[in-house]
Amino acid sequence: DKIQEERLKYLTDEKRIKAVTVLFSDLEGRLHMLDYDKKFLLKSYDNLTFDGSSIRGFTAQRESDLRLYIDWSAFYWGPADIFGPGKVLVFGEVISKEGKHYEADVRGVLKTFSETLHKKEGYTLNAANEIEGFLFKGEDAERRFHDTHAFEYVNTGGYYHSLPGDPLRTFIDTTAEVQRSMGFQNEKDHPEVAPSQFEINYSYGEVVAAADQIQLYKLICRQVATKMGLSASFLPKPVVGVNGSGMHTNVSISKGGKNLFWDPKGEEQLSSFGWSFVDRILTHGNDICLMLNASVNAYRRLDPHFEAPNQIKASPTDRGSMVRIPIGNEKSMRVEVRSVGPDANPYMVMYSVFKTGLHGEIAKIKNLRQAERYLPDNIYTALEHFRLADWTTKLLGADVKGRYADLKQASADRCARLLGTVVKAPEVQFH
Ligand code: GLU
Ligand code: MG
Ligand code: MG
Repeated sequence: DKIQEERLKYLTDEKRIKAVTVLFSDLEGRLHMLDYDKKFLLKSYDNLTFDGSSIRGFTAQRESDLRLYIDWSAFYWGPADIFGPGKVLVFGEVISKEGKHYEADVRGVLKTFSETLHKKEGYTLNAANEIEGFLFKGEDAERRFHDTHAFEYVNTGGYYHSLPGDPLRTFIDTTAEVQRSMGFQNEKDHPEVAPSQFEINYSYGEVVAAADQIQLYKLICRQVATKMGLSASFLPKPVVGVNGSGMHTNVSISKGGKNLFWDPKGEEQLSSFGWSFVDRILTHGNDICLMLNASVNAYRRLDPHFEAPNQIKASPTDRGSMVRIPIGNEKSMRVEVRSVGPDANPYMVMYSVFKTGLHGEIAKIKNLRQAERYLPDNIYTALEHFRLADWTTKLLGADVKGRYADLKQASADRCARLLGTVVKAPEVQFH
């Protein structure tokens, strides 16, 4: 098509480009990248294959070959100081032997879902994420944690506290500059509530691009931090006793340029279409929890004392509720899903939120939006909800659902073993 033609011409003409980095994500959202020499890629872009058996959640050994298509619409310039000289980045689509989107590549699932809705209903799915993270001393803080049982802050400031020259400020400025050079529409950035915590906001976008940008954002943050001899961490609750990190997911749906969530006469100015979306999310809040809070650590974050939600309800103000309706206008009216950890698979987050909001059921619970219902407070409960729910089978298919649950079960068990033997107290106050 036209975009492909344009990009191929750009690659051919732009002499500075030497290699193309293709990115895709495994079932748990881990980003994988491989570099193709530009000349090779220009010849072979329609016949790329790779061994899927070494990617977690992908194929079993005996059926390991998968194809990689290039999504030329997801194309980014790679700034040399971060990605090495002469590179562009492009997202790949994993394709099965039969030539179909491979079902464990959730990006492809999300893309098909979004394109089908656009064709059938004229909907455009929009998302904006507020991704929080911590900056810690040392290049491999998360790995060293196993030995030292401590993360070290780079500063002790708090909300909006920033001094030029402070390492956190330098980190935020550098990251924002890299984002801008890659085409992100930055909006604002600031140190967050906890010491050494940051948040960098950029404009909402179409759902697949928004999920890609989450992957890029985390990659850029990690690269910038490493260059400074530091670590960017997206663990939801790295330090006990202070706020954790969320990835609040703000969503809206537009049609013909009109925001379908806006109704000046609606309750909280959210349209009835928007409220049904919220009700479906609340109905399935427990079912989809494991996809939004995908790690053992994520459940430590869900504590209203630290502005993170544990209640399955909707509110305009209460930050302890799973869904919040922020004040907005015709353009910005949206629904904020707060119970999302920054270490979840972003494609799975988007897919489960939008598909549930649009196609889920609405429970006949009295006061569904205010009822006293709680999210799981540990991953084992979340696993149980996930496995038992028919809805998650409808979302992912029985095969991928089973694989995802098995991966999460394995990491939960690994963690439980570690906590039982290595770290004696289940929670240690580090600072
Ligand atoms: N850090 C809080 C969380 O874990 C969110 C704070 C905020 O509302 O920005 O979700
Ligand atoms: Mg925040
Ligand atoms: Mg928020």
